[in-house]
Amino acid sequence: MIVGIPKETYPGERRVALVPKLVPNLIKAGFEVLCQAGAGEAAGYGDEQYQEKGARLLPDREAVFSAAQIVVQVLGVGANDITGDADLALLRPEQTVIGFLRPLGSLEVVERLASTGATAFSLELVPRTTRAQAMDALSSMATISGYKAILAAADALPSIFPMLTTAAGTITPARVLIMGVGVAGLQAIATARRLGGVVSAYDLRPAVKEQVLSLGARFVELPIEAKDAQDARGYGRAQDEAFYARQRDLLARVVGESDVVITAAVVPGRKSPVLVTAEMVRGMARGSVIFDLAAERGGNCELTRAGETIVVDGVTIIGQVNVASGVPHHASQLYARNILSFLLHVVKDGRLELDTQDDIVRETMLTRGGQIVNARVREFFSLPGLAIAPAT
Ligand code: NAD
Repeated sequence: MIVGIPKETYPGERRVALVPKLVPNLIKAGFEVLCQAGAGEAAGYGDEQYQEKGARLLPDREAVFSAAQIVVQVLGVGANDITGDADLALLRPEQTVIGFLRPLGSLEVVERLASTGATAFSLELVPRTTRAQAMDALSSMATISGYKAILAAADALPSIFPMLTTAAGTITPARVLIMGVGVAGLQAIATARRLGGVVSAYDLRPAVKEQVLSLGARFVELPIEAKDAQDARGYGRAQDEAFYARQRDLLARVVGESDVVITAAVVPGRKSPVLVTAEMVRGMARGSVIFDLAAERGGNCELTRAGETIVVDGVTIIGQVNVASGVPHHASQLYARNILSFLLHVVKDGRLELDTQDDIVRETMLTRGGQIVNARVREFFSLPGLAIAPAT
């Protein structure tokens, strides 16, 4: 089975889907590995490193797509909404593509991907189960993003994080609030604590309280209860507008008392809930910083502009997107491990084994044989049910 690593094309993207260190693992498992020249350059992985580990270098993207049976990407069609569509012309029916594909983004785009006939696996759909943990690329990237958000916020803050007692007086520690305690939020808490901040965290799922406390942060409890806060997969559920309005009222004080607010509250496939209004921003002290990790999904702060950093009444609001790409070396290393685990799971004896009894295969496969075959995605877009394509 021939695996190809094309260079990422999303503007500014610095990650790569497979790192040289893992090439021997694939070769040992019977794969041949092709790499587009320069694919790992921006992440600190040179062409010669891929070659030393046994990958064959190809000069351009077309050559990789044309020779590879499986193409591995970080941001594929859908997830790369700027230049990703160019890959549609390169994909073919007998080919498999694995990467982030934003399956709940746009039906039109997923349909276009399906129409190539390729078998596409979308890593956003990997079940969040213990068995699939090694393939959970969302968690890998969220970990990096949570870390990076704190560093960026600390950098933008005109103060330092830790308490300092010096001959020139005492400096009080930064008060940091994390809203939305998924994987990114947890890493943000841990990183802010390491820098010496006084950290509080809030999530509508009461189940995370224990995790917040175990990281040495305070859990913000509000006198409102979310309805069925957590779905069967562990995700926070969307609430009605009355809940969000009350939530904002109750959060205003704690936001106003914070020097740094990291928002990471996400509901899969939906626009992110607004947790911080313009009025709440006005209630914050000058110099405070908000890093909105939900910027790409509409933002948790009413004023966030995706891809931009703005200053409103002295408060810096960072709406950076694609945050994990800012730590490309380690982000690629983790992502590559996820890809390797996935490849070893779906390819047996040199053949793609599509056992739809297997929840990882069934839940991650997005398109096959010209159709959208994923039940969750079909339901999300209100498409009629479909008997899944038979295993071949
Ligand atoms: P996510 O990025 O989907 O969401 C981040 C957080 O936002 C969630 O905790 C959610 O409850 C919260 N949120 C949503 N709306 C909110 C609101 N109005 N106010 C406050 N908070 C709000 O989360 P994720 O990091 O992808 O994790 C999702 C779930 O998957 C979690 O339960 C996590 O523990 C679980 N998980 C399990 C595994 C595993 O078992 N292998 C691995 C990773 C994650």
